[in-house]
Amino acid sequence: MRLSKMHLKTLREVPAEAEIPSHILMLRTGMIRKLASGVYGFMPLGWRTLRKIEEIVREEMDAAGGQEIHMSAIQPAELWQESGRWYAYGPELWRIKDRHGRDFCLGPTHEEIFTDIARNDISSYRQLPMNLYQIQTKYRDEARPRFGLMRSREFIMKDAYSFDRDQAGLDKSYDEMYAAYEKIFTRCGLDFRPVEADTGAIGGSNSHEFTALSEVGESEIAYCEKCSMAATVERAECADAPSQDDVEMLPMEEVHTPGTKTIEEVADFLKLDKNQTMKALLFVTYDSEGNEDGYVAAFVRGDRELNMTKLVNALGIPEHAIEFADEEKMGEATGCVGGFTGPVGLHDCKIVVDSELPGLKNLCAGACKEDHHLINVNYGRDYEGDIVTDIKVLAEGDPCPVCGAPVKHARGIEVGQVFKLGTKYSEAMKAYYKDENMKDHPIVMGCYGIGVTRTMAAIIEQHHDENGIIWPIAVAPYHVMITVMKPEDRVQAEIAEEIYQTLRKASVEVLIDDRKERPGVKFKDADLLGIPIRITVGRGAADGMIEYKMRRDADKTEMTVEEGIRKAIDTISSEK
Ligand code: ATP
Ligand code: MG
Repeated sequence: MRLSKMHLKTLREVPAEAEIPSHILMLRTGMIRKLASGVYGFMPLGWRTLRKIEEIVREEMDAAGGQEIHMSAIQPAELWQESGRWYAYGPELWRIKDRHGRDFCLGPTHEEIFTDIARNDISSYRQLPMNLYQIQTKYRDEARPRFGLMRSREFIMKDAYSFDRDQAGLDKSYDEMYAAYEKIFTRCGLDFRPVEADTGAIGGSNSHEFTALSEVGESEIAYCEKCSMAATVERAECADAPSQDDVEMLPMEEVHTPGTKTIEEVADFLKLDKNQTMKALLFVTYDSEGNEDGYVAAFVRGDRELNMTKLVNALGIPEHAIEFADEEKMGEATGCVGGFTGPVGLHDCKIVVDSELPGLKNLCAGACKEDHHLINVNYGRDYEGDIVTDIKVLAEGDPCPVCGAPVKHARGIEVGQVFKLGTKYSEAMKAYYKDENMKDHPIVMGCYGIGVTRTMAAIIEQHHDENGIIWPIAVAPYHVMITVMKPEDRVQAEIAEEIYQTLRKASVEVLIDDRKERPGVKFKDADLLGIPIRITVGRGAADGMIEYKMRRDADKTEMTVEEGIRKAIDTISSEK
């Protein structure tokens, strides 16, 4: 492709709304074009890279036995009502009506559609196992679309669904997909970690997220350097503090603690360690019609953080059905007092107690009375929980739940997630197969997603410098950039043209910068676009010499035209 003819609009200025490198660089290189918040189109360079990522995904999915299909983005509401997710999915689900008032949604994911295919098309155990996938546009009306392709409202996802006879079959399908994902992200040049994950709105039992390590990522992961424990912080189990069985319960006492609304203030005032206190977090929950249906008070040790994912899982409600309560309103109904809420004396609300609190003795808690706390509060004697379970965050430095070594945290970008769905959808939607004895069984399912557009953003996050993108060869929009210093110089133009044609014949994807621009501008653009190999045709052309440079290296080498061509072809074939 000749740059003089290519539809390319690079920007010198950093667009104001872009905060992270991938977003800034995709806009500056003109790879993507914004149409609305979280809605982007792809221009030639962006589309080429996207197709390369898709091709890697496709090759590995096919190699793992997947069969590609393509379902519609528009999905009838009935299927979502059958699975129960018309309600459970919440406001992210992009609901639409047709002219007759019938409900549809723009698919955020396709479990219902693929389960529907399975119940129609699979009747016998002989058809199993089966794996169907698609690479398709998804819609999620995200609360905060941001960071360009990282969290958009329209995006491209590869979603695959496996169908098996039993759990052992699912385990095998899951392992095969897991292995395929490792190959895909490795080929994309990503530094990633598979970690255990929560199953969220998709459901099922086990799940792993594939996280590309990056400071700008929105996923926080906890991992242990001593053993192999690695999980999203949402999911990570947190070991309870040892229970204080031989500590004697002291008499509970009310103390005056004026103005001490926070844990820090009350611990300071009473000269206690924060881990000798407990704190309350207050919520209101909503039913499927969106009406308030009750209050929840969650209690964790004063120095801990509440894990919202664990709390909604414990309550068995979707994330969108709970929010922080208006304390005054809640106070009238339950007796809680903002800043001074404790479990003793609280009424008409669901009390969720973190699993370590029953083992801890003589804690300080709010007294449900302005400016007062209770000391020596003990589980069983003074209060009880409707639910007692782990609802705390595994913080950095906490003991690893597997081996006890201090845990570390890191940030990353969730580029893919795999789930063992089991029979959640096949039972709800009656997708059964018949075994050898003509007996019916629900099909055992798994589902496997890759954010294709998000992966593109993640690759840039890990492969850039202050001058621009540094594409790994496997996903570069073009492999080679030929920079002609003076296109009006006949020798330079001819040599460049010869290199261009030879490389093209060798199936190298090559750009030639034949624009009438200053060399400085051309070098800047070449760095910005991140084409992996640059061949510069300049003064040396008369002697058959060119300058060869990898975008990722600082140094450049003079060599003959033939050497340059051979080196480029060899490098590309070894890294593609
Ligand atoms: P997140 O937690 O980031 O919202 P998710 O867990 O809801 O993502 P999944 O349902 O697991 O997402 O979807 C599969 C993949 O699709 C994700 O791993 C991610 O790479 C991608 N993805 C999800 N939401 C978006 C989005 N809004 N924009 C771009 N990619 C997305
Ligand atoms: Mg996910």
